[in-house]
Amino acid sequence: MLITLRRIVQEVQTASNLDEALAIMVRRVKEVLLADACAVYLLEEESRQYVLMAADGLNPSLIGQVRLDRSEGLVGWVGECQELINLKNAAVHPRGRSPPETGAAGYHAFLGVPLIDYRQTLGVLVAWRRAEGLFDPEEAAFIVTLAARLAKVIHDAAAMKKVTRLLDGEAPGSAFIQGIQGAPGVAIGTIALLDPLADLASIPDRPVRDGAAEEAAFKAAVATVQEELRASGERLAADLPSEARALFDVYVMLLGSHSLMADTLERIRAGNSAPGAWRDTIAEHARAFERMEDPYLRARVEDIRDIGRRVLIPLQAEVKASRQYPERCILVGEAVGITEIVAVPGDRLAGVVSQHGSALSHAAVLARALGIPAVVGLAALPIGRLAGREAMVDGDQGRVYLHPSPAVVAAYQLRASETDALSARLEALCAGPAETPDGVRVPLQVNAGLIAELAPALAHGGEGIGLFRTEFAFMARETFPAEDEQYLFYRTVLESFAPKPVTLRTLDVGGDKILPYYPMEEDNPCLGCRGIRFTLDHPEIFLIQLRAMLRADAGLHNLQVLFPMIGRVDEVDESLGLLTRAYRELVAEGQAVAKPRVGAMIEVPSAVYLATALAKRVDFLSVGTNDLTQYLLAVDRNNAAVTTPYDSLHPAVLHAVRHVIEEAHRQGKPVGVCGELAGDPAGALLLLGMGADALSMNLTSLARVKWTIRRFTTHQARALLEEALALEDGFAIHRLLDGALEEAGLGRLVLTR
Ligand code: PEP
Ligand code: MG
Repeated sequence: MLITLRRIVQEVQTASNLDEALAIMVRRVKEVLLADACAVYLLEEESRQYVLMAADGLNPSLIGQVRLDRSEGLVGWVGECQELINLKNAAVHPRGRSPPETGAAGYHAFLGVPLIDYRQTLGVLVAWRRAEGLFDPEEAAFIVTLAARLAKVIHDAAAMKKVTRLLDGEAPGSAFIQGIQGAPGVAIGTIALLDPLADLASIPDRPVRDGAAEEAAFKAAVATVQEELRASGERLAADLPSEARALFDVYVMLLGSHSLMADTLERIRAGNSAPGAWRDTIAEHARAFERMEDPYLRARVEDIRDIGRRVLIPLQAEVKASRQYPERCILVGEAVGITEIVAVPGDRLAGVVSQHGSALSHAAVLARALGIPAVVGLAALPIGRLAGREAMVDGDQGRVYLHPSPAVVAAYQLRASETDALSARLEALCAGPAETPDGVRVPLQVNAGLIAELAPALAHGGEGIGLFRTEFAFMARETFPAEDEQYLFYRTVLESFAPKPVTLRTLDVGGDKILPYYPMEEDNPCLGCRGIRFTLDHPEIFLIQLRAMLRADAGLHNLQVLFPMIGRVDEVDESLGLLTRAYRELVAEGQAVAKPRVGAMIEVPSAVYLATALAKRVDFLSVGTNDLTQYLLAVDRNNAAVTTPYDSLHPAVLHAVRHVIEEAHRQGKPVGVCGELAGDPAGALLLLGMGADALSMNLTSLARVKWTIRRFTTHQARALLEEALALEDGFAIHRLLDGALEEAGLGRLVLTR
């Protein structure tokens, strides 16, 4: 059964459109179940009726014609109760009105199963036999498994059909593609796709005029990578076990191997470009390794691919440098990352659309920080067909319009001006400090990661930088930045805010923050070599950063150093040890450096329970509610499928944050909050009730949070907190806070869901 199941799923997945996929499905199910007829009904969004979409064994002219109300007949029943129904004789069942509605006259045995994706019934799959009798349990189990596997495929194919109609001009002018809100605002512009050269498999063929130049470029790229590998191997020689060191030698050897070189040169001489020729050579060798019997040799296929990607970086550097972006660029891709966003010149980037990801992906966090509207998590996107098209990105409602009609644009312009007016009113109300009516001040700071964010953060009254994500500057590059380069960068950041505090977080890569020049292939990157684990594994990289930070602070004294992803006390101890070492080195070199204030991030559940021990070791704690929510609730912050369970107002998250604040205060240490919860008026209100000492947020959240703080007394905030903590589920907490904020007059702009 398993093999049959796999084959059917594969066949359906390779179908070029929804109709073909459904036709394959009914034909194959009918065969496997030895049924006399099989059909799929899909629930139509607009009419809320089941429409017969594909059938085998029924009159084909009924396809597209038969429509059943949601609660009509056996099909409606299966959809309603969302479970399998197996009937010996449908004709005698009170809901068994088969003919003529279903077109299944003369059939008796009935097996129906719902197609459910993310709790939503998409349709019903049905099989009939003429003879009376139940389908056997194995057949029932088979159809349940198949339906569960295919529901997602059908959902995506249906979404793709909708988008294709839109692209072909067959949909109404107001039609849009629905995704998830990534960053607020509306933008109209021209679509540019992610760099198509980033992935070896997607390198296009390009005929060449100057074969000799192409050969030279290829040889130079290989030499560069060999040199890099040799240098890395030597640099790490002392820290790496011998097997790991040997890997560097294997790579250098593989790269220089006659067959890889000769095959590629031959392809270039035959007329292809160096990247195209390299793509084919790598593909051929990868196939050869994949076919090998020996598991060790078979596993080397990943090394071959890795080498392929590495050589591609220098090879495409020139092409990348000459890349042009449209004036109002809507950047679109399967998985848009921080690196790609940062690569677009700031004055050209108008919007971002990423098929994968969620509102908490770092690309969305960055888009919010930059004030760039973004939509993420779209079920289907024929990316290849989108380049150069006009599009409108509605980050407020998570919609993407292709060639929006003038009426749609006009409606949006009206809404945008209303929103601007409301924001202006909020800003005007907030000219004063963030102080509660009973006189408690809560410093509101800004989260940033780019130089361009600093001036607006200051202009809008940011009382410091509560979180500077230094990793962003590490991403849009081709090597780790040198110490002097980092020094100049941090100096600019610190100077622009001095004497206000600036919290520079040490490199936090891993998870969805990937360095193009240091790919980490991990099965579960969010639980892998992330944040402080990475920097402690690489003291040579960590020390350069710490030295650059200390040097940048000379004479300013507004630096605070923050360690990310702390989960154990020894990680803080070791990090502090390296910071002291960097300090001593600089003092010995005669530099006028000072010891900065140091903080630990609380974003891993173990750190919550170590709050006391951690608070004893550092000057302050900073709660990262984005990752804390992810790890505490076991919900991936990047997965669009789990945006509902991902909730920072979940009672478990709130109890954890309160615990941290109480424990740190017992040790006399302040606690800031720098996750997205701090920028949400509902979250800010609860954090005020908990006694958080500072809130750090995206610039765009500053005005509404300040408004909230100025509107509620600490007594009211504490009372709301107690009420919220007495509730057992997040939805009730959302309702409670939405009510309180609406009553206070903040209205629809701050509804928490
Ligand atoms: C957090 O996890 O809450 C946080 C602020 O860090 P980042 O979003 O960069 O992971
Ligand atoms: Mg984090």
